[in-house]
Amino acid sequence: MTLLNVEELGKRFGGIQALEDVSVSIDEGELVGVIGPNGAGKSTFFNCVSGVITPDSGTVRFNSEDVTEAEPETLARDGLVRTFQHTRELQTMTVRENVRLAAPNHPGERTLPALLRTKSMTNREASVREQADDLIESFELSHLVDEYSSSLSGGQRKLLELARTLMLDPTLLMLDEPFAGVNPTLTNEIADHIKQLNDGGMTIVVIEHELETLAELVDRLIVLQQGKLLVDGEPDEVLSDERVIEAYLGG
Ligand code: ADP
Ligand code: MG
Repeated sequence: MTLLNVEELGKRFGGIQALEDVSVSIDEGELVGVIGPNGAGKSTFFNCVSGVITPDSGTVRFNSEDVTEAEPETLARDGLVRTFQHTRELQTMTVRENVRLAAPNHPGERTLPALLRTKSMTNREASVREQADDLIESFELSHLVDEYSSSLSGGQRKLLELARTLMLDPTLLMLDEPFAGVNPTLTNEIADHIKQLNDGGMTIVVIEHELETLAELVDRLIVLQQGKLLVDGEPDEVLSDERVIEAYLGG
């Protein structure tokens, strides 16, 4: 079944056509890579799909519903969740606080006096804590739970960002350069997490600017170049495609 369907997406910033007529379809359960040189429009594609910016033209459908104008918070509640190229953890909070805080907000809940809280709210808090601790453990961040996130390495921040994102229980997870600035050991670790999540049924789209990093991980590669979709296919085909080689050599 098609989970995400993007038709003829267009976005211009002043004189730059960041996206032009980009059409992409993602099926449930797929693990797809989006690659392309810097400035190709990859992040803009994510921004349009996840509601961070509104495209000038085209349609975004998630679960067959037109969500072109939807807000990021609404989409996240519906299961479409993305990370940012530059991680957004709160630096003055600890790792544990960061993960717990990523749980979806239930309006009013936190402002109610303790005595008025229903049992279910208390239960929910307990389950948020449990989910946060489980994620922290599975991402091997346990020894850092009480550290301020400002003291983490770039790679550890990427892991934290992934853990925060998973608090939202995504059905479609979109990762913007999860390996950027990450050392080879952590890169492998993050790749393993992505693979495991996908094996568990989560649909995942990963942006990466280097060609080879994703080729082994994903089932399918989408290549963007200067805002346009250049190639969409199996990694082997894509990597040997002359247009792709040329796009990379040409910068
Ligand atoms: P990528 O993620 O593939 O490196 P981006 O989607 O970030 O590429 O950018 C595509 C093009 O759009 C680039 O030329 C970039 O400078 C431009 N661009 C992206 N976001 C903005 C913005 N908010 N304002 C102006 N130009 C932007
Ligand atoms: Mg980008």
